[in-house]
Amino acid sequence: MRVLITGGAGFIGSAVVRYVVGLGHEALTFDKLTYAGNLASLAPVSDNPRHRFLKADICDAAAVRAALAAFKPDLVMHLAAESHVDRSIDGPAAFITTNVVGTFALLQEVLDYWRALPEAQKVAFRFHHISTDEVFGSLGPEGLFREDTPYAPNSPYSASKAASDHLVRAWHHTYGLPAVMSNCSNNYGPYHFPEKLIPLVILNALEGAELPVYGTGENVRDWLYVEDHAEALFTIATRGRPGESYNVGGASEQRNIDVVHTICAALDAKVPDTAGPRARLIRFVADRPGHDARYAIDFSKLHRELGWSPRHSFEDGIASTVQWYLDNRTWWEPLRQRYQGQRLGLTPVEK
Ligand code: NAD
Repeated sequence: MRVLITGGAGFIGSAVVRYVVGLGHEALTFDKLTYAGNLASLAPVSDNPRHRFLKADICDAAAVRAALAAFKPDLVMHLAAESHVDRSIDGPAAFITTNVVGTFALLQEVLDYWRALPEAQKVAFRFHHISTDEVFGSLGPEGLFREDTPYAPNSPYSASKAASDHLVRAWHHTYGLPAVMSNCSNNYGPYHFPEKLIPLVILNALEGAELPVYGTGENVRDWLYVEDHAEALFTIATRGRPGESYNVGGASEQRNIDVVHTICAALDAKVPDTAGPRARLIRFVADRPGHDARYAIDFSKLHRELGWSPRHSFEDGIASTVQWYLDNRTWWEPLRQRYQGQRLGLTPVEK
């Protein structure tokens, strides 16, 4: 297959690129390389002739058109987005531009491309839109997000993703574009940008710096190991039913404070700190505005229809992730230095 992956230099996108190329398919990474895009995350495939990289913006219709015409994909997986909730609170404009206007521009070009395909390729073609469980809003102590849960986004980020989900649904319903969608819980794992909660805590703990936790750390998130997500995404993209959306989750609900304790314990076990257990570094800080209380996801449709379930438990995934950060200083040190001292590098976040 020939797979065009937008946002393929980001955290999840690069896991998808590595997975797809590893399966023997051809991949084109289409990425603007914002602060969150990093070619070093594609190093494992950089010498592989089945992978190509194009630095381009999804808002640039001509660039999208040219890439589609030259690469001739059978599948487009759309991950390009502004993805960080705290940044969306500080500056929502970029989120509307990329997540809403950019998805619109991409849809228009993909629709034209799909319409012009020969009949057999037209039938086989898929557009896969990757989204978040945050579009569903916040849960109380009970219940799970299902595919038919009403949308109720609370942050500028989740509102922009909800808007993009609605556009994709409409392009399928109105124009017949063979689109599938998925909404996933929090990802973690290798190549995760150091401003996000799990890498931030690992790296601060490693350096003996404070581990800031929003509010009382009671907020609950479901966590999925990124390589399990990549496998789920390719399964949905290739075998999901057009017009359907699939929830993806890790079956691993955790309070933020417990996530931090698990990381501290994993690090203490691997690299003991002579000053004492790293949990001593935890500091509670003022809560994020509009902080959603709980996300939890029902992914039984994906399991039932396509046979997917996550392979990693949270404890195993955290142990692998901690080990990866210990082994890959050359990946994260330049990013850490570049963002040192910025508010975003010093406050805890979930995504
Ligand atoms: P990321 O921020 O790590 O990567 C986003 C990538 O998109 C970067 O490489 C960036 O350079 C690129 N990009 C941004 N704007 C672009 C534009 N205008 N044109 C082309 N490329 C552009 O994000 P991520 O965490 O890998 O998330 C990928 C997707 O998955 C997003 O759509 C996000 O909403 C969704 N998602 C993320 C999570 C999570 O936990 N991280 C969970 C569920 C869904």
